[in-house]
Order: sequence, then structure tokens, then C-alpha cells
Amino acid sequence: MKINHLGIATKSISEALKFWQDSLGLDNIHTEEVEEQKVRVAMLPIGESRVELLEPTSEDSPISKFLEKRGGGIHHIAVEVEDIEASLAKLKAEGARLIDETPRIGAEGCLIAFVHPTTTGGVLLELTQKIKE
Ligand code: ZN
Repeated sequence: MKINHLGIATKSISEALKFWQDSLGLDNIHTEEVEEQKVRVAMLPIGESRVELLEPTSEDSPISKFLEKRGGGIHHIAVEVEDIEASLAKLKAEGARLIDETPRIGAEGCLIAFVHPTTTGGVLLELTQKIKE
């Protein structure tokens, strides 16, 4: 397993890029709108991992709710697993509270599933599995 990315909520990706890209020096290699999740994402590699900037595309986006409640900041941590179905089955058997019982399609066509913060000690956890080409 490894940390695939850190999801950071922001009101505006272009504002956030002023720090993460222009000041800190990361490259924005990929921008995409994930309609299902009502977000626009920008991916900035950092070592083996990436910073994922998340901007809401509608008022009922989960990111809009997060920004209202807490302002910007770390929204979730994404851990890359080999077999997301197996990971979800194991977590379920261990009594974890799953937001997604079955994986759905996330940015870049990855399979993703979220685990509720009440299970993880306060961090929204995203499991992600790359689709092999
Ligand atoms: Zn993510």
C-alpha cells in the first residue's frame, strides 16, 4: 500500500495553484471534472504521491459542504490498494463504517471507495485502485 494522494478542498483551484504550483513549485499535470462527485480536481505529483486539489462544481457538492463547515484544508487521504473489493470486504468484516460498499469510478478512471471518519479516528479515507491497462 502507499499514499496515492492527499485531497485538499479549496474554493478555487486557480487560487490554490498560486501556492502549490507557483510558490512551492509542484506541477499541475492533470485537471479534470468528476461529474459524479461534483468536483473539479487538479493533480500535482509530489514524490510517489500527489496533492489533489478539489474544487466544488455545485452547491450540493460534498466539497461545498466541507468548505462551509471547515473552510479549506485536508479533506481526505487516499491509500492505494491492490484489490479494492478485497480491502472493502476485509474492512466490512472488521466492522468499519463504509461510505461506499462497492467501488465507484473516480478521477482518471480509478476505482475508489470512501471509509467514514468515525472508523478511522477522524480522517476521511479513500481507497483507490488503479485500473490496469
Ligand atoms: Zn481523492
